[in-house]
Amino acid sequence: MTTDTTSAPNFIRNQIQEEVEAGQTARIITRFPPEPNGFLHIGHAKSICLNFGLAEQFGGDCHLRFDDTNPAKEEQAYIDAIKADVSWLGFQWAGGVRFASDYFDQLYAWAQHLVREGKAYVDDLSPDEIREYRGTLTEAGKPSPYRERTPDENLDLLERMRTGEFAEGEKVLRAKIDMAAPNINLRDPILYRIRHASHHQTGEKWKIYPSYDYAHGQSDAIEGVTHSICTLEFEDHRPLYEWFLDNLPVPTKPRQIEFARLNLNYTLTSKRKLKLLVDEGIVDGWDDPRLPTISGMRRRGYTPASIRKFCDMIGVTRADGGLVDIAMLTHAIRSDLEDSAPRAMVVLKPLKVVLTNVPEDHEESYAVPGHPAREDMAVRKVPFTRELYIDQDDFMEEPPKKYFRLAPGKEVRLRNSYVIRCDEVIKDASGEISELRCSVDFDTLGKNPEGRKVKGVIHWVSATHGLPLEVRLYDNLFQVEQPDKDRDADFLEHLNPESLVTVEGIGEPSLATATPESRFQFERVGYFCADRHDSRDGRLVFNRTVGLKDSWAKIKKKG
Ligand code: ATP
Ligand code: MG
Repeated sequence: MTTDTTSAPNFIRNQIQEEVEAGQTARIITRFPPEPNGFLHIGHAKSICLNFGLAEQFGGDCHLRFDDTNPAKEEQAYIDAIKADVSWLGFQWAGGVRFASDYFDQLYAWAQHLVREGKAYVDDLSPDEIREYRGTLTEAGKPSPYRERTPDENLDLLERMRTGEFAEGEKVLRAKIDMAAPNINLRDPILYRIRHASHHQTGEKWKIYPSYDYAHGQSDAIEGVTHSICTLEFEDHRPLYEWFLDNLPVPTKPRQIEFARLNLNYTLTSKRKLKLLVDEGIVDGWDDPRLPTISGMRRRGYTPASIRKFCDMIGVTRADGGLVDIAMLTHAIRSDLEDSAPRAMVVLKPLKVVLTNVPEDHEESYAVPGHPAREDMAVRKVPFTRELYIDQDDFMEEPPKKYFRLAPGKEVRLRNSYVIRCDEVIKDASGEISELRCSVDFDTLGKNPEGRKVKGVIHWVSATHGLPLEVRLYDNLFQVEQPDKDRDADFLEHLNPESLVTVEGIGEPSLATATPESRFQFERVGYFCADRHDSRDGRLVFNRTVGLKDSWAKIKKKG
């Protein structure tokens, strides 16, 4: 990449490095454990890069395990999308795809083990009562009247819960730990709930489903995970994670390590809120290019390398609450595309130019490098004709001083071509400029004649050969930095009404062969990507990935 984008500190990597050097860890196993209840977003990308990245760096394995303990909210479509996203980012999980539900039999056997040991019991309190009995941060909880049931009675009730004898909410299985524990997670947490739901992996087999806390650590232990890396909200769950490992005959003892989640300004990183935007039709599906979902960023034109680079730049710490500037993310993609994207000339707001001293049937064309610094890229053929389009923004009828683009009586260079002068402005009945009449100085191809300084260079497209393009100009979905800062406020109030503006542009003929997902720099305009769904069968649809201005590089320079 052209711009300096050095990696930031990563305390987990340092810690593992020390363990390896001290001979404490021979081979690491990490896992990425998404719940299949939505598409992955940029926050998950941080976790993916961390877990798969560590396995890569230390020659270990990373597992992909679906945390599928809540059948009501999960779907096969999400499983498929998550697998595709992880692969697209360039990571390969070790072995097959795993599911927490693969371990339901073992988890159930271990629940029976806890019951036999007097460390779990079936409770008949309602969910509301359980909450009430649990106490508060300042007040101890009180024991359920069902807490002293005998192991035999509990075993029998648990088995009948499993076979569907009781209604949802009628009973739960709880660990018997300590109702007065200062850490509320230890106040007899729930291990199993009754759910008469069909499960995408296990079908109708189970009428009870394990809680996340009960399933997670044991799944780690079964898989031999060495470092169970999660976000800081699970820090208070760690004593419970360890309680299970200490009280069950598990084959290995994984260690939980927490890190700060990624928060990005102008962006939501909550599956629940993203799902709302999708369900309400506010965006065009989970892969809408305005969403921070991995598939949305892919459709927008982000590369896997740029997302991985970004995750490297933000680092991994335990400091919570920080908001990462989205300019860092756009910097990562821009510096990738600067080197890799072929160039093309595209006019987004066409203004017709007639070159009065060029004959009607005149044809010439230029062989222009695909990329200014890359000889390996195909040369483009750029045709020049009597009628052209330039961008409306490159002409001003009454220009201020130091305006170097086109104006009445003024000259400008057409990129890769001649210098032209504007002789006449044609307007329509309503007074709008409809056309410019200009003349070419044929002595200026590839040079400025002596003594003449023509500073401005503008892009253009032959009107005869130009291709119609649908161009989708994407901007931030939200107008404020933290759309969900106020928990009660409706984040939908902060939507940016201009987050998508679609225009009909005109592009140079080399774009005719643009395949879906190919990326370009439209010169002087920005980076664009052919839409992976809509740009096909002769139709050209481009999504703006990012503009040309790099505010992050500027911030870095100043700082
Ligand atoms: P959300 O809050 O968006 O619903 P989640 O944490 O419920 O996300 P999971 O599917 O459970 O989603 O997440 C899988 C993994 O990704 C977890 O280890 C989780 O900690 C991690 N993760 C989720 N969001 C972020 C984030 N913003 N930054 C870093 N890691 C994250
Ligand atoms: Mg979660």
